[in-house]
Amino acid sequence: MARVLIGGFMHEVHTFVDGVLTLDDLRRNGFIASGDEILSPEIGSGQEIHGARDVALAAGVELVPSRMAFGGVGPRIADAAFAHLRDGILDVARREAGRLDGVYLNLHGASATETEDDPEGALLDAVRRIVGPEVPIVASFDLHVHMTDRMVAAADALIAYRTIPHVDYLETGQRAMHLLLDAMAGRTHPVVRQRKIRMMASAERHDTNHGPMVDVMAKARELETRPGILAVSVTPTQPWMDVAELGWSVTVVADGDPALAQAAADEVAWMLWDRRERFLVEKTPVADAVRMAIAHEGRPVILADGSDSPSAGGNGDGNDLLRELLRVGYVGDALLTVVDPAAAAACVAAGLGATVTVTVGGAITRETYTPVSVTGEVITLRDGRYTTELPVRPMDIGPTAVLRIGGIRLVVSTRKAFQLDASIYHQAGLDPERAAIVLVKSAGGFRGVYEPFASLIIEMETPGPCTHDLTTLPFRRIPRPLWPWDRDLAEPWAGARRPEVAGG
Ligand SMILES: [Zn+2]
Repeated sequence: MARVLIGGFMHEVHTFVDGVLTLDDLRRNGFIASGDEILSPEIGSGQEIHGARDVALAAGVELVPSRMAFGGVGPRIADAAFAHLRDGILDVARREAGRLDGVYLNLHGASATETEDDPEGALLDAVRRIVGPEVPIVASFDLHVHMTDRMVAAADALIAYRTIPHVDYLETGQRAMHLLLDAMAGRTHPVVRQRKIRMMASAERHDTNHGPMVDVMAKARELETRPGILAVSVTPTQPWMDVAELGWSVTVVADGDPALAQAAADEVAWMLWDRRERFLVEKTPVADAVRMAIAHEGRPVILADGSDSPSAGGNGDGNDLLRELLRVGYVGDALLTVVDPAAAAACVAAGLGATVTVTVGGAITRETYTPVSVTGEVITLRDGRYTTELPVRPMDIGPTAVLRIGGIRLVVSTRKAFQLDASIYHQAGLDPERAAIVLVKSAGGFRGVYEPFASLIIEMETPGPCTHDLTTLPFRRIPRPLWPWDRDLAEPWAGARRPEVAGG
């Protein structure tokens, strides 16, 4: 029976938010699991690792579980915490060395530690050194992977999600395991090549359902039908990381033909480059967004605050929309969220039904947001433990209250939650489908869940660490030239030559 080591870790860094994540922080953000527990229902379902597991078990493969962690998005990981995640995988690889037929790692790909800008590359490289050159290694990534040459050199095949908003977690794991099993059986001889592009853009227009990404993804899918091409991944990197290899990437896995892989990667890379100006975004000032939302007849109107997006690394403590709704004396109903540990504690201390006056917002991102004083009724109290809906994962945002301020119901939580689905509202007993105005702190990832029922979506121009205007952030280590910092840049990579069009 063939044996496959399985494990991984998911953490996405935002290098402009303060702090360093410890193991306890990572646990609170998600989970750290070892051994058989990494495949158990307690850590969720519908993730890449579960798709990979299903394919492996159906093929009669024995899985050798190591360590798996989900650590959310935030500042760099402490070196010691990363060592714990890494060693849980490497220790099993060492123990099983010589008795493994393949390795599958479920990674995000845009993590960083205190001293390491490419921990996934370091991990893949270390696994390769242990298992040797003959054992296939396949890794799957988030589409916001910061792909590095070290990852490409260490692995036999690398693939990423195909969707933004991300909805293909399970399928990505399935595809990765199929690639691995084919390589293990000698049916394919995968080789990987990437093309790094000198461009970056914030998350809003990464959307694979609308705008410039649609025909690029269609091209990637078409290339995958060509003989010899096994997988094409288009990866617009996590934008808010200040590292030396930053840039978008196209990664292609081909069957034994590196030149074919490189040519396909370059073809897609040119498409991205030619569309670069369309990836820039213009947003609506908050006052205008509120006016438009109030005037709009249908409901709900979704007001997206991408700059404070927890799933991009923001702290969730922005309050610009709340301030504006209060300023204009809005009397309709609205659902909002804010992270504010002191306000949440005050609501808990006051108790259900109590009327409290607290300040909310700016509790963490003090240089950007100013606290707002509100008086409201505590209508709900929760312990903040719930399960997210897409994908299914445990979440713990600490003591959480719903404060009713006129028609506004404000979810005040102790810690932040991803807002890629509506579970932050559902866990508090609120239904965003029935509200008039709903705040979502996400740049674009929310659309998978919210778009089907939204009457109108407005992207608000708000301040915050995940601002769409990357050139306003204090990047220091990124490679230059890099678009849009170097707006007139002519070459998408050094020595780039546009491929000749067949027949033309
Ligand atoms: Zn992502």
